[in-house]
Amino acid sequence: MATAPGARGTARGTTDIPQPATDRTPLVLSGATVVLPTGPVEAGQVVVDGTRISAAAPENAQVVDVSGHYLVPGFVDLHNHGGGGASFTSGTVEEVLTGIATHRRHGTTTLVASTVTGDMDFLTHRAGLLSELAEQGDIAGIHFEGPFISPCRKGAHSEELLRDPDPAEVRKLVDAARGHAKMVTLATELPGGIDSVRLLAEHGVIAAIGHTDATYEQTVQAIDAGATVATHLFNAMPALGHRAPGPIAALLEDERVTVELINDGVHLHPAALELAFHHAGADRVAFITDAMDAAGFGDGRYMLGPLEVEVADGVARLVEGGSIAGSTLTLDRAFKRAVTVDGLPVEAAVAALSANPARLLGLADRVGSLEPGKDADLVLLDEQFEVRGVMRRGTWVVAPRLG
Ligand SMILES: [Zn+2]
Repeated sequence: MATAPGARGTARGTTDIPQPATDRTPLVLSGATVVLPTGPVEAGQVVVDGTRISAAAPENAQVVDVSGHYLVPGFVDLHNHGGGGASFTSGTVEEVLTGIATHRRHGTTTLVASTVTGDMDFLTHRAGLLSELAEQGDIAGIHFEGPFISPCRKGAHSEELLRDPDPAEVRKLVDAARGHAKMVTLATELPGGIDSVRLLAEHGVIAAIGHTDATYEQTVQAIDAGATVATHLFNAMPALGHRAPGPIAALLEDERVTVELINDGVHLHPAALELAFHHAGADRVAFITDAMDAAGFGDGRYMLGPLEVEVADGVARLVEGGSIAGSTLTLDRAFKRAVTVDGLPVEAAVAALSANPARLLGLADRVGSLEPGKDADLVLLDEQFEVRGVMRRGTWVVAPRLG
């Protein structure tokens, strides 16, 4: 496997900083700008005791000076198809773990693995494999993107495998995931769409509206039935029209909906991102990668489900037809772009990258902010917002080399 950008420095022993864990010395990361939900705190500190963040430093704690850096919560990716050369839809367990490790090195400490459209037998089998990884704590759950999506907005999904969202079939996928189905993307305007939204809501699974050709009114109906997420808002849905505002207006205006955005500079014009933030507010935006295998890996030919993809200059497109086919984004780049290009305050970027997706996943008591009692999942960024360290549950994934 090639070394992904950002992978350098991951080897243990490149630093004097101890690895805190239950049997190790507690650690005080001191002097950084700590980004809390209320805003950045200059010269702040985060205490790591075991696998958790602690309110106070025990006497034996080792203090490490990380001044000149930012400390932000580990990123939470709701929608991610792979990375490091590996696909979550088709890779072996080992390959899937490689993909997860690649994203972790870029700061994603909580990841929902997304599948692309496949036939039902394949997807139920896949759900079994991924649910084992969820049981081991490697992923936070499974997101099924397709097959219940619109042929008019299929993006990089194979048309012949698409189907209407029959609630019985939706149920089959959810059951195959053994309690680890977190989200299903649906074109809710298709026959069975609204009943499927209701079924998902009853089972505590996020119904996400996406790859949809719905009207404004149909979208409102789906939200009223319990849909709470917009799958990559703007992409794979009708554009905003003044007589036909379509799904975008309905999803942006409704307080119950969180909108996913792919902030890679390719999927969205910066003004579209700004519009979404302006209307939804920082509390209703979740930055996602929608990454495919090439993320953290490199250009070349890949497969996305059964479809061939060419990645050139970091942009993934279907060989046939040229549709954008996922991204090669990692969430550290989404963060850096949000702050340096989009001009968002750091706390808004943190909300979109950590707190909001954590809340959606029902994990806000454990991850999503740097507050005492939560998992010690954190990212150390330098002043240019480049990753200098990543910690997951108290253990360095990328050990910082300071000074
Ligand atoms: Zn996707």
